[in-house]
Amino acid sequence: MKLDIDRQEHGRTQLDLSGTLPLDMGEGRPESAKLEGVLVVDNLESRFLLHGTLKATGDALCGRCLETFSFEWKVPVDIMVLLRQERNQDPFEGQGKTHVLHQSRGEVDLGPTLTECLVLAYPISTVCREDCQGLCASCGIDRNKQSCNCKDEDFDPRWAALDDLKF
Ligand SMILES: [Zn+2]
Ligand SMILES: [Zn+2]
Repeated sequence: MKLDIDRQEHGRTQLDLSGTLPLDMGEGRPESAKLEGVLVVDNLESRFLLHGTLKATGDALCGRCLETFSFEWKVPVDIMVLLRQERNQDPFEGQGKTHVLHQSRGEVDLGPTLTECLVLAYPISTVCREDCQGLCASCGIDRNKQSCNCKDEDFDPRWAALDDLKF
């Protein structure tokens, strides 16, 4: 996934991106992600601005039932490529979430920056589906597939009162 500076037309163009990037986010998170989408490229005099929202897909672990599933997440991308080396003078550098790269010619490898964007956009927890029932806290069965007779983990004093009557 590259941007060829030398061949970019002036003004606004689009850059189609599609590829797989390795990730290193730890257990239960995707080891790699398929990334696809389109970035808008603005070729200004001394800089390129790339922005858009890409779609990522990877194998994640459900935080409730611990099943592996294909997780899809949105990846906002905001990259600036500065053609001139004026690191200390650029007022735009470091503003907001823009990733700033420095390169004056040839192909810019967007891979490392896109990987950063992927990781930043990844949510803290993932569930396979909104109504996933998860695992039973007592016996450990997958409540999406089976049901059990375990008592609910949430302590309810009304049930405790019934227990007292029984014994
Ligand atoms: Zn689940
Ligand atoms: Zn159970």
